[in-house]
Amino acid sequence: DGLIVSFGEMLIDFVPTVSGVSLAEAPGFLKAPGGAPANVAIAVARIGGKAAFIGKLGDDEFGHMLAGILKENGVSADGIPFDKGARTALAFVTLRADGEREFMFYRNPSADMMLTPDELNLELIRSAKVFHYGSISLIVEPCRSAHLKAMEVAKDAGALLSYDPNLRLPLWPSADEARKQIMSIWDKADVIKVSDVELEFLTGNNNIDDASAMSLWHDNLKLLLVTLGENGCRYYTKNFHGSVDAYNVKAVDTTGAGDSFVGALLCKIVSDHDIIQDEHRLKEVLKFACACGAITTTKKGAIPALPTEKEVLAFLEGEGK
Ligand code: ATP
Repeated sequence: DGLIVSFGEMLIDFVPTVSGVSLAEAPGFLKAPGGAPANVAIAVARIGGKAAFIGKLGDDEFGHMLAGILKENGVSADGIPFDKGARTALAFVTLRADGEREFMFYRNPSADMMLTPDELNLELIRSAKVFHYGSISLIVEPCRSAHLKAMEVAKDAGALLSYDPNLRLPLWPSADEARKQIMSIWDKADVIKVSDVELEFLTGNNNIDDASAMSLWHDNLKLLLVTLGENGCRYYTKNFHGSVDAYNVKAVDTTGAGDSFVGALLCKIVSDHDIIQDEHRLKEVLKFACACGAITTTKKGAIPALPTEKEVLAFLEGEGK
């Protein structure tokens, strides 16, 4: 089995103990470990794949707690340095009664932003068959340089590069800067996954259609995915494109659905990159990934909701697939 190395941030979301309140109104908060790249690594391990996470944590209670969560889930923490000065990143997040998501980040700077190129575990990166990353690690130095170096080392060692921009607009100095930096590494990736919201943001086109998705195509890309929440996903390759429906579930919290989807996809293609060239096999993999996404929405939180392979197979059997 090939190793999937996921690079970026791991942090703690603090979510209100009651739903539908503003941050100021919340009577209390619960810790919800997250960070998209860390979620992806755990998603891979839950369904039986081999995963490692690379990113910096604070040398504090929260940092060691997060490293412990990775290890408990069978994810290698060998690429995690601990910062003596900066704290583990925190974010207070709420879904207000008006449906708006409200964020408040504690990153001034946080440990994840302090990862330097010299701290990279190059041996671990070179052993990756798939190297996955987002865009939050591009926002500030020195993490940005570490990210660029890690990508280069992985690519030179023959890894497939996988990119899920995971736009978090409030973390960027401006929308233009976010777009520019997200696109600055676009043509390095072999596999790219965007959400409908990101497709709109990156193209400036509010039609979620094939022409808009194809405008994001680049010559070296092997697979482009657009996830559409309860409407499933669309896939694009050099030779074919199409869509896969979502499963009908009672969603209670969609956090982590995209990460669960990506983890499942990478776990299936890591051992056989040729799946991407075979539409029938790719569709089977995407149905599995959509099932993982759907299951993740049925439980609160991201990490606790990521399914095991057994749960996914039972779910698919129940769906008659
Ligand atoms: P996030 O950033 O919240 O992790 P995302 O926007 O990257 O998610 P989504 O499109 O929300 O990604 O979800 C990924 C996949 O999970 C979808 O393609 C779909 O198959 C499944 N999914 C998500 N939400 C639902 C839902 N409400 N019902 C059924 N399936 C869902």
